[in-house]
Amino acid sequence: MTDIIQQYEKYIMPTYGRQPVVFVRGNGCYLYDEAGDAYLDFVSGLSISNLGHCHPAVVKAVQAQVAELIHTCNLYYTKPGVELAKLISENSLGGKVFFSNSGAEANECAIKLARKYGRDKAGEAGPVTGPSGDTGPGSGAGSDSGGAAKHCIISLENGFHGRTMATLSATAQPAKQEPFKPLLPGFTYVPRNDISALEREMDDDVCAVMLEVVQGEGGVWPLDQTYLEAARELATRHDALLIFDEVQTGLGRTGKLFAYEHSGVIPDVMTLAKSLGGALPIGATIAAPAYSDVLGPGMHGSTFGGGPVACAAGVAVMRELTAEGFLASVETKGEYMRSLLGKLQDDGLITEVRGMGLMLAIELAEPLAAEIVTQALGQKIILNNTSDRTIRFLPPLVVEEGMLEAVVEFLQTALSSSKD
Ligand code: PLP
Repeated sequence: MTDIIQQYEKYIMPTYGRQPVVFVRGNGCYLYDEAGDAYLDFVSGLSISNLGHCHPAVVKAVQAQVAELIHTCNLYYTKPGVELAKLISENSLGGKVFFSNSGAEANECAIKLARKYGRDKAGEAGPVTGPSGDTGPGSGAGSDSGGAAKHCIISLENGFHGRTMATLSATAQPAKQEPFKPLLPGFTYVPRNDISALEREMDDDVCAVMLEVVQGEGGVWPLDQTYLEAARELATRHDALLIFDEVQTGLGRTGKLFAYEHSGVIPDVMTLAKSLGGALPIGATIAAPAYSDVLGPGMHGSTFGGGPVACAAGVAVMRELTAEGFLASVETKGEYMRSLLGKLQDDGLITEVRGMGLMLAIELAEPLAAEIVTQALGQKIILNNTSDRTIRFLPPLVVEEGMLEAVVEFLQTALSSSKD
């Protein structure tokens, strides 16, 4: 193990802080290290292995597809891509899908779609007269609009949309953005759940409002129902697209197929990735029918996007998620986990429980989250902290009640002894 870790230090760029463990195998809710020890996984590769590791339906679909056809590129037609697009479309916005390979790429496509939409609309309204202002106090990246009106994108502070330059420009977290400035122009940020702030920033230069229904990487912060409704109304009023980044919340994580279903607020564009490929890389951008043809031939692309293997895996994932009773079981288990965590709060061990379905977080009174995660690993439980006080839970959706109890029992002991 030390050898592999040393080699990482030598050959892999140091962009991640890793836990000192090398995994060689996964099965269901467990990962196994080189010694064969099993670790209960409450991170799911950051909400990727939502059906559990190496789910048999995914393995079967991938094996069959790999043996048949691995890649053609998008100059030709293949069956798995359109099968998956149909399943996504019919279960969500009813429009068309663009496939890519990651969450950032799915959002990149949504951003380009919004910019193109804005440009089309500005063209309809008359000739462009010059740069429109986006230099308010929350402005992320400067005011050079390249001469395009209706180009501004509003996103939420503490959100996370990816690490490419466009998605980083939408990711309103100063520490992540600072080293890479200047960012893309035209991004403005508003505080989460602050309707007045959104109202103040909205004008006809805005082409999109982009948000996570539950901020994930930022620490599991659900948006208020009233906020989502206001965002919908303001976007419609200003002819801007409402983009929901469901890269983390989508595909059953919150107990519905897509988190927007809890609110009934329907976006114009939705992005997916993470668990869509059953742990193979894939991203998807879905536009409602009215916006499905905004991006035309030659305007966007991805050599790997929509490849047969990742899409065959995605079809298997969608079938599992939409099987009778599956999502209801996620809601039930989420409520159970919440109730168990609620007892920790009643006992004064934590200050808050947040989240939806099996996307949950607890807030600690003291900055002990990293220490608790390290202790957990020692006890063969995989946890993740998003800050020094926040522990996030993203167990596989096939987690069992006994596993939820085991993790909360560990937390009870660890947090009690940290108080001694
Ligand atoms: N959007 C959200 C909501 C995410 O949680 C993430 C990743 O954590 C991304 C986008 C970026 O996805 P990827 O790492 O696949 O580019």
